[in-house]
Amino acid sequence: MSRPKIRLHVEHPLSQGQTVDLSREQANYLFAVMRLGEGDEVALFNGHDGEWRAVVTECGRRGGTLEIAEQTAPQQDPPDLWLLFAPIKKTRTDFIVEKAAELGAARIIPVQTEHTNAERIRRDRLQAHAIEAAEQCGGTFVPGVEELHRLSDVLDNWPEDRRLVFADEALVGAKRALAEAPQATKWAILTGPEGGFSEAERTRLLSLPFVTPISLGPRILRADTAAVAALALWQAERGDWR
Ligand code: SAM
Repeated sequence: MSRPKIRLHVEHPLSQGQTVDLSREQANYLFAVMRLGEGDEVALFNGHDGEWRAVVTECGRRGGTLEIAEQTAPQQDPPDLWLLFAPIKKTRTDFIVEKAAELGAARIIPVQTEHTNAERIRRDRLQAHAIEAAEQCGGTFVPGVEELHRLSDVLDNWPEDRRLVFADEALVGAKRALAEAPQATKWAILTGPEGGFSEAERTRLLSLPFVTPISLGPRILRADTAAVAALALWQAERGDWR
């Protein structure tokens, strides 16, 4: 079954025959930017009901309506994988969130570490980047982006059934691979800021029973590169790329 090329995330339950009213921004995107008109098709998804073919029934400058025809793809959730990353400069943080959504993170948690430069993040803006990435990559799932949390607080409240893969730059060049990690169904990845982790943070992380330290190869990667590399490595070894 062919899937409409233009995809739109909506906060709306999706089922056959449903009418979906468009916001002004959504109408502008579909009708002004993408030049759609009545009778044209859009693929809708809301993050949990799969993807549905919808037909434009009304189009205007301030809004419009779509009528849902049929499901074109089932809901496909990613593995239970969180990404914890230390925010860096704004555009590169945007990049990390966008790539995490494409690479199948189920939850994205910005963490404040001792050497993190960013004091705060714009959660709503980052969430919009995650939605846009899902629209573009054909996914039906959208990871939630959390507010900025202190790493120490996150570790204090760590769920005991979840493993944490710690990208430890001190292991640069070592052969500490993910393969050594125990089996688990719930996972998380942690990457640090441009300034790396402090000695105190490393000592604490390495002492935690749920942590698996890994190397990301013989070169020091930039923080955004490291997040992407760690996600790709995990998906290939333990995730939905196998
Ligand atoms: N300032 C640190 C230094 O010079 O050692 C580098 C930090 S690096 C720019 C940012 C983060 O990427 C690190 O905290 C780590 O999580 C990850 N990273 C980068 N290269 C890595 C490697 N070869 N092995 C493991 N983690 C790495």
